[in-house]
Order: sequence, then structure tokens, then C-alpha cells
Amino acid sequence: MKKNFVLVFAVFVVALIGIFSRPSGYLADLWPANSLILGFILRDLRLVKNGFWLWSGVAMVAADLVTGSGLSKAVVLNAGNIFAVMAGVAVACSARLAVYPVRDTVDVLNIALVAFAAAVAAGLFGMFANPLLFAGSVTEGLTYWFVTEFVNYVVFLPLIMVAPTFNTLTPEIIKQRLARVNPLALIPGVSVIALCLLAMTISGPGVIAVPLIGLLWCAFTYSVFNTALVTLVYCVWTLISLSNGYIDPDQQISYWLNVISLRVSVAMIALVPILLSCYIHRNRARLKDLEYASNHDELTGTLTRRALYSLVQEKETPASMTLLMIDLDHFKSINDNHGHPVGDRVLRHFVEIARRCLRPDDAFCRMGGEEFMVVLSDLPSEDANRVAARIRATFEENPLVLDSGETIDATVSIGVAVKYSDDDDFDALASKADRALYEAKHGGRNRIIHFAD
Ligand code: GH3
Ligand code: MG
Ligand code: MG
Repeated sequence: MKKNFVLVFAVFVVALIGIFSRPSGYLADLWPANSLILGFILRDLRLVKNGFWLWSGVAMVAADLVTGSGLSKAVVLNAGNIFAVMAGVAVACSARLAVYPVRDTVDVLNIALVAFAAAVAAGLFGMFANPLLFAGSVTEGLTYWFVTEFVNYVVFLPLIMVAPTFNTLTPEIIKQRLARVNPLALIPGVSVIALCLLAMTISGPGVIAVPLIGLLWCAFTYSVFNTALVTLVYCVWTLISLSNGYIDPDQQISYWLNVISLRVSVAMIALVPILLSCYIHRNRARLKDLEYASNHDELTGTLTRRALYSLVQEKETPASMTLLMIDLDHFKSINDNHGHPVGDRVLRHFVEIARRCLRPDDAFCRMGGEEFMVVLSDLPSEDANRVAARIRATFEENPLVLDSGETIDATVSIGVAVKYSDDDDFDALASKADRALYEAKHGGRNRIIHFAD
């Protein structure tokens, strides 16, 4: 209920902003209210049922009335707004278009499709409203309503769809984010504003494409939301400039070129950085997942052998290094007696226990099968020995308990090798630890053996 009230109030405020941007008594150039209502509903379809759309209509009529419009005109125009919004919602729902949350480029294209549907509905409404309310023609009503609405939806709707949810925007989080802003990161956004100003000095309809290079820079560097925000600034600047003749001071361009052609171009340009940004972020996330998968063992989440080797090579040579080679004892018989899935659980259980004995940054990898390696850097050898002893003892003392209550006893053998001089390379150290492990196995298992020359 409280949330509904806040949303309806937001519509009222945004409608007032739209009214103040209205040139000479005709329809608003910038009308974000419809996008706001449509965006809120697409993000939370429950708003259709609880009558939010109806209250939004009332809020827009109220905004018109307090700014001096006549009642009948306000009611008719805003009925048209709600009609168009609901047409967009109907198309999104009936075609089951994925529009929220926005994860991929296809979601942005779906949003553009919903915008198109809502704008067509607005155009149909305009066919009737234009002759009735403004004594204009049917064709002009159709085209003007359709184009103005389409541009407005394309400009505002993506930003509303990619905006963070209300609950994630606590004052504390906003403060933290602002504190983390790097002034250099503002440059792409500032470049768009600078290019907009530059465009004004050139004049002529072609200048609407001048800021595109800055917008693409934003798409490459910013989050999707921030890219959508800068794109909005560009669009608002262009649309206001078109209405006020800043872009064409001589006012020589025709109504058709100004209203239809240029505005549609602005909408199309606006889609490019948002689509690109979505594509880039989606791919970056995929790449991160792939990188994680290639560096981590799927079963236990430890590093892969290759990842551990490259980690050790990348790091500066530590002052001291101890290597633990760990192998589960008689693991084959656990598999044989309890089945492979239980064997898998024992492996995960061991990793959980070992992690608790290690520092978060200690390199821990699964060499293969039931064999693991731990690299303890910058740790005195006595402490490293204590770590090895704790892993062995904790694992022995905490057997895995199955859902049936049955416990699976298991132990490990550990081979330890310490790096004493810079001459010891990593491979040599690993083979020393391996030899120590071999001795531990032959000495009866469930023990720790230190490599001794
Ligand atoms: P030892 O004490 O000498 O190390 O004996 P062991 O039985 O542990 O060693 P062995 O090398 O004979 O057997 C290791 C077994 O580990 C054989 C293999 O089927 C099993 N194994 C390897 N990878 C996995 C895995 O991912 N999951 C399970 N459940 N078993 C695995
Ligand atoms: Mg084993
Ligand atoms: Mg083994």
C-alpha cells in the first residue's frame, strides 16, 4: 500500500515535469510519466491487479488540473496515456516477452517492441483525439502521437527497466557508491555533454549523431544503468534542442523532418549504447564464469592444478614456502563400500575441513582424484607443520555423517616439503613432497612425513 502510494506520487511529480516541458500548448515533448507507469508495471505485474494504473491516471489528471488545464481535456488525454500503457503491457504479457530483469540484448529489443506497441496504441488514440481536441487532421494525429510516444518510451523506458530495485538503494549504499566514484571514470559521461555542446555550435540536422562516439565510450566503460542514464541526458538535450530550434537556428527544416525523421533517429541512436552495454556486460559475465570454471575444480571448488601453478608463478617469490601433498587413504574402498556419490561427498567434506585449517589466501588445489596440494607461503615452517597436523587430525576426528546417521571414517596421509633456498624450483619441491607422501603411505598411512634429503 505504502509502495503503491510512493509510485503514484512519483507519477504525479514526473507528470508535472512533463507539463513544464510542454511547448506552446501542444502535447508534451518530454513525457516520462507513461514510461514510468509502463516500467513500474513491467517490473511488477501485480500492479495491474491492484489498480496502480488507474491511480496513475488520476495522478496525471491531478497534475494537469493543478497546472490549469481543463477537466475534460485532461481526462481524455490521460485516458489515452493509460490506454497506450496498457496496450504495451498487454503485448508484453500475451507474447510473453522477456523484459525484466534486463539481462541480454534481446531483452532491450523486447522493450523496444513493447514501446512500439504502446506508441501504435497512442497513435490510434491520436487519430481521434487530434481532430476532437486540437482541430487537427487524423493523419497528423496518428503520426505525431505515434512518433512522440515512441521516442519518449525508447528514451525513458530502458532506464526505468535497468534501474536498481528500491530496496537496494539505501542511503548507506548510495553514500558508499559515491565515495568510491573515481573522478576519471566521469570522463566518458562528460565527453557526451561536451559533444552535445559542440553539436550546438555546428548546427544542422546531422549534428544529432555527433555525441554518438561519447555514448559508445560510455557503453564500453559504464554499467548498463549508467549508460542508460547518460543516453537519457543526450536524448533530453536533443529533443529540447529540436523543439527550440537550437539545432536548426534558421527553422528551415520542415515539420516532417523535425518531428518525424529526427525524433525517430534520436530514438534509434538511443538504443545503440544500451544494446551495446547489455551485450558487453553479458559477455563479461560469461567470460568470468568461464574463467572461474577453467580455474576451479567442479566437484570441490578448489583450484585446478594449472591454476595453482600459474598462481605460484605469477606471485613474487615468497620469503618461505611449504608444500603439502595430501592423499586420502584407501579412498577406493570408500567408493567400493558406499558408492561413488558418497565418495564425492567425502572429497567435499575433506575440502571443507582443510579450508577451515588454512588462511583464505593459501593456494589449495585438487591435483586429480583424491590428491590435493597446499602451498603455504610466508609462513614459518613450524607453523606450516602445525597446519598439516591440524588438517590430518581434524579430518580423522570429524567423519562425514550421512543422512542415515552412518559415519564414514576416513584419513589422509601428508607429504611435506619446505623450500630452503631460491635454487629449489616449484617442480622440484612438488616431487619432494610427493616422495614424502609415498613414504607416509608405506609407513602405514594417516600420518605426516617431512621430506629429508
Ligand atoms: P591409497 O591409500 O594408497 O591412496 O589408496 P586409495 O584407494 O586412496 O588410492 P587409489 O589410487 O587406489 O584409488 C583412488 C580412487 O579414487 C580410485 C578412483 O576411482 C577414485 N576417484 C578418483 N576421482 C574420484 C572422484 O572424483 N570421485 C570419487 N568418488 N572417486 C574418485
Ligand atoms: Mg588415496
Ligand atoms: Mg591417490
